[in-house]
Amino acid sequence: SMASPALLMRVVASAYSVAEKAAAIVRNVMAAGDLGIVEKTGANDLQTKADRLAQMSICASLARKFPKVTIIGEEDLSNNDITEELIEDGYCEEILKKTCPAQYTGIKEEELVIWVDPLDGTKEYTEGLLDHVTVLIGIAYGGKAIAGVINQPYYNYEAGADAVLGRTIWGVLGIGAFGFQLTEAPAGKHIIVTTRSHSSTLVNDCISALNPDTVIRVGGAGNKIIQLIEGKASAYVFASPGCKKWDTCAPEAILHAVGGKITDIHGNSFQYNKEVKHMNSAGVLATLRNYDYYASRIPNNVKQSLVP
Ligand code: AMP
Ligand code: MG
Ligand code: MG
Repeated sequence: SMASPALLMRVVASAYSVAEKAAAIVRNVMAAGDLGIVEKTGANDLQTKADRLAQMSICASLARKFPKVTIIGEEDLSNNDITEELIEDGYCEEILKKTCPAQYTGIKEEELVIWVDPLDGTKEYTEGLLDHVTVLIGIAYGGKAIAGVINQPYYNYEAGADAVLGRTIWGVLGIGAFGFQLTEAPAGKHIIVTTRSHSSTLVNDCISALNPDTVIRVGGAGNKIIQLIEGKASAYVFASPGCKKWDTCAPEAILHAVGGKITDIHGNSFQYNKEVKHMNSAGVLATLRNYDYYASRIPNNVKQSLVP
């Protein structure tokens, strides 16, 4: 009989199913109509019932299967009453069938850190911009993002009732990324994707310095990485603090799995060990191709304003 799949593949296969369950929670809360909005640091930093329930479901489901893994979720939850209907225990079979890259076959549970953003793009979710929303589960080993799942609960929601709603993108370094069609952005055009609800003078000055042909303003870190891997944008530029490790871990793993690059605005790579500071204080710069074009044009005054 076949040997049991490596731990990493079981974690990714479980995260895939867990993210689908979380996506159903996100849709159900919206459909029920009572979002239970709470302001965290202010009016542009929100938490809803969907953020809370999805995080409870994701963290409890993963912890039950992988009790020694460190799991760090965005939301501070005082009420941790897990009901059985929140638990997902499935595995994505397609992922279990993939061969684990040799450098990851010996990983032990206590060496993994899972970064969870149960609902990325909450502000947009509350405003009805539903396809901006993603569920992010990032998996780190040795301080690096090595695997990730991005679920987009409302993918296709404007395509009509016949369209299949939602999708799950996943990736592992050394295997690749799946669940979407990898597409390059138009050659020779500088299409920049950035925040829609967390702009500042610095954010806008930085973008202007990059000579963009087009600027796309949408919510969500997960959503912006999807724009890069589907060829809608050539660079994700965010010269501001605000983005956290749970925003970038899953997107980073998927982008790196297809040959892209994500760093802070200085070009420093992100670290994802459990002790790391949560805030990405020096912003985000990400591309699928031509990283150096954008990195070399970030103005010095922007860099000086953002201390890592
Ligand atoms: P955005 O591109 O504005 O959707 O931001 C990407 C991620 O970073 C989302 O999870 C935001 O909530 C978070 N974020 C960015 N800037 C801020 C901020 N100023 N305050 C709180 N969260 C932020
Ligand atoms: Mg987020
Ligand atoms: Mg969130």
